[in-house]
Amino acid sequence: KQYLEESSERKRLYNEVIELKGNIRVFCRCRPLNQAEIANGCASVAEFDTTQENELQILSSDSSKKHFKFDHVFKPDDGQETVFAQTKPIVTSVLDGYNVCIFAYGQTGTGKTFTMEGTPENRGVNYRTLEELFRCSESKSHLMKFELSVSMLEVYNEKIRDLLVDNSNQPPKKLEVKQSAEGTQEVPGLVEAQVYNTDGVWDLLKKGYAVRSVGSTAANEQSSRSHCLLRVTVKGENLINGQRTRSHLWLVDLAGSERVGKVEVEGERLKESQFINKSLSALGDVISALASKTSHIPYRNSKLTHMLQNSLGGDCKTLMFVQISPSSADLGETLCSLNFASRVRGIESGPARKQA
Ligand code: ADP
Repeated sequence: KQYLEESSERKRLYNEVIELKGNIRVFCRCRPLNQAEIANGCASVAEFDTTQENELQILSSDSSKKHFKFDHVFKPDDGQETVFAQTKPIVTSVLDGYNVCIFAYGQTGTGKTFTMEGTPENRGVNYRTLEELFRCSESKSHLMKFELSVSMLEVYNEKIRDLLVDNSNQPPKKLEVKQSAEGTQEVPGLVEAQVYNTDGVWDLLKKGYAVRSVGSTAANEQSSRSHCLLRVTVKGENLINGQRTRSHLWLVDLAGSERVGKVEVEGERLKESQFINKSLSALGDVISALASKTSHIPYRNSKLTHMLQNSLGGDCKTLMFVQISPSSADLGETLCSLNFASRVRGIESGPARKQA
C-alpha cells in the first residue's frame, strides 16, 4: 500500500512537472569558494535569492547582473541530502518502468564528481540512488519483484572502457554500441553485476572508481577528460499479472566543459579536446533536436549519445546538473555553462508531453 501511494504520488508530481516543462529538468549547483580562491582574493560572483529557490544572479565584470532561472538552484552550503531530496522523484521513476538519464555538466573543478560520486563521508547521487531503489523495491516486494544490476564504464577519446573489469594485466576489451534484435542500443560484453544490498553496491562503486583512477598516468587529468557512466538496469516482474519491465537509469559524470587553452591545442590534447567538444555538442544537438521534434535525432554523432539513445527523448526523463564555480576567476566559463544550460531548459519549455 505504501509503495502504491508513493508510486502514484511520484506519477502525480511528475505529470505536473511534465505538463509545465516537458521531460527535461535542469538543476544548478554552485560549490563554495575554496581555500586557494579565498587566499587569492577571488570574490564570489554568484548571488542567490533567499525567497526563490530556482533563481540566481551572476555579477559580470562590467558590474551588470545576469539572471538565470532553472528548475532548482542549489547554494554553496546545500549538502548532498538536500540535493538528493530534489533528485529522488526522478531516479525512482525507473521502478515505474521509465528510462532515466542524469548528467552532471560543467567546467572541471566545479563539483560534478562531488555531486554524482561524492566522498565516503558525503556520498553523492549515485550511491543514494541505489540505496533509495533498494528501499522502494523492498516496500513493494509483495507486489513486484525487482532485480537490480549495475554497469560502470568510461568514454575516453570515443573509446568505451568497462570499469568493472580490472584491465591492469591485459589489454582492455574493445566495446561497441550495437543495436539489438528488439531495436535497443546495447553494449555487448559490458559487465552487468547484479546487486542485492547497499554494502554490495558501495564495494562495486569503489572498485569501478579505483579502476578509473589507475587507468592512466595522469589520472586526474584523464578523468576530467572522460565521461564516467553508471548504468542501473532494473528488471521488474509484477507478481499479480506477470507483466515484466526492463528499464535503465544512467548517471553520468561528463568530461569538463572548459574550452581549450592556447597551450593545449597540439597533439594528444587537441585530439582529446576535439572528442570532448564533439560529444558535449552532440549531446546538446540531440537535446535540441528532441525538443524541436525534428524527425532526425543525431544520436549517432558520438559514442555517448548513441549509447544513451534509448534513455533520451520519448517518455524518458532527463535531468541535467549544471555545476558552477562561484569564483570571479571562473566567470567566463560559468557564463558559458549557464548559457548552455538555459538553452537546454529554455528549449524544453515548449508544448507539454503527457504521460499515459
Ligand atoms: P569536477 O568533477 O567538476 O572536476 P570535483 O567534484 O572534483 O569537480 O570537485 C572539485 C573539488 O571541490 C573537490 O575537492 C570537491 O570535494 C570540492 N567540492 C565540489 N563541490 C562541493 C560542494 N558542493 N561542497 C563542498 N565541496 C565541494
